[in-house]
Amino acid sequence: MARIEANKVLKENLKDYFQSFFPSEGPKPKVAWCTSVGPAELLISLGFQVYYPENHGALLGATRAAEKYIPRANASGYSPEICSYLTSDIGAHQMNETPLKEAYGIPSVPPPDVLIYNTNQCREVQDWFAYYAREFKVPSLGVFSPWKVDELNSEQVGYVARQIEAMIPELEKISGQKFDLDKLKEVVALSRKTSDLWLQFLNSARNRPSPITFFDGCIQMAPAVVLRGTQVAVDYYELLNKEIAEHVSRGEAAVPGEEVRLYWEGMPVWGKLRFFSDLLSGFKANAVASTYCDSWIFTDFDPADPFNSMAKAYTKIFINRSENKKEEVLSAMAQEYQVDGIIYHDAKTCPYNSNSRFGLPQRISDKYGIPHLIFDGDVNDLRCFSEEQTITSVESFVDQIKEAKRG
Ligand code: SF4
Repeated sequence: MARIEANKVLKENLKDYFQSFFPSEGPKPKVAWCTSVGPAELLISLGFQVYYPENHGALLGATRAAEKYIPRANASGYSPEICSYLTSDIGAHQMNETPLKEAYGIPSVPPPDVLIYNTNQCREVQDWFAYYAREFKVPSLGVFSPWKVDELNSEQVGYVARQIEAMIPELEKISGQKFDLDKLKEVVALSRKTSDLWLQFLNSARNRPSPITFFDGCIQMAPAVVLRGTQVAVDYYELLNKEIAEHVSRGEAAVPGEEVRLYWEGMPVWGKLRFFSDLLSGFKANAVASTYCDSWIFTDFDPADPFNSMAKAYTKIFINRSENKKEEVLSAMAQEYQVDGIIYHDAKTCPYNSNSRFGLPQRISDKYGIPHLIFDGDVNDLRCFSEEQTITSVESFVDQIKEAKRG
């Protein structure tokens, strides 16, 4: 992962982003907390600084601080069975701690003026934000999206678009700024550009050998999540893509001697990114494509039609699709990226992003001849993950693929 030079700029950008919530002079910005696939563009256009609790959840997982905070939230009544982003984030709040203090020198997570969620990904976010609404005594407003959509129709798009528009009067009151349609169009245009550049980065993995891994994607996606709608994200991905194009022209492999190409389905195990990266590369295997990193490709964004296009982009995310649609998307991706197999992460506390529970792996293996492996784990709760078992099953899965390739 250290191979990518642009990482230095990424770190600076993230530092600036987190520190911008606590300016050393001038007025403090109004802060909106938003779910990762919520209507961030509207919030930015109204002058809010947008903070994403899920990004904080991922950070708690990646730094393994989650192990300390999940039991704290469990003790206050939040079950170990529910989203471990939620329990680690709430536990950290209850202990008044955050890795952001040490990493970026800020005093705390930025206190919110308003909380905005979208149920397109899961229903947990509503209760997660309800907790903070009580804690900070600020409003929590939601977009309720149609669930598990197959083909998205115009009625569904209109239903979501009207909910986003309906937030404007309340948000104007909180931000003290008047809504400006032209400003929103500008922000949507920047998000669209960010998304297109992010797609270009991910597409670089179609090369053989691939210049990037799924684990690079997990790191590099931060601007697409927390900085979309800004020029900073656009500039960053332009820089990153330039570097990756150079890697491709020199034929540099992210996994030297790449022999096996895999698709990673589901969330990462945040506390084990390095473990998985080393494990796969040790077998000369690379996870070249994933559902998770693709979640921030929003090709529907259209600045000429901001509300409908946001509604479309945000409702069409993979996690919110029907089983049929998921099968269609996954099998197409497996073919486009020429993968030899699919690894499914069954994340204990995130059933929404675990697609191995309703026969999808078996259907894809049977229909398209793509072998699969399902492993048990979790996004943040490492009590649900066994290194030993995973090493054994990944090793035999990759061996089986290599054997089949040799014919
Ligand atoms: S999608 Fe999963 S990880 Fe994300 S907030 Fe919902 S339950 Fe948590």
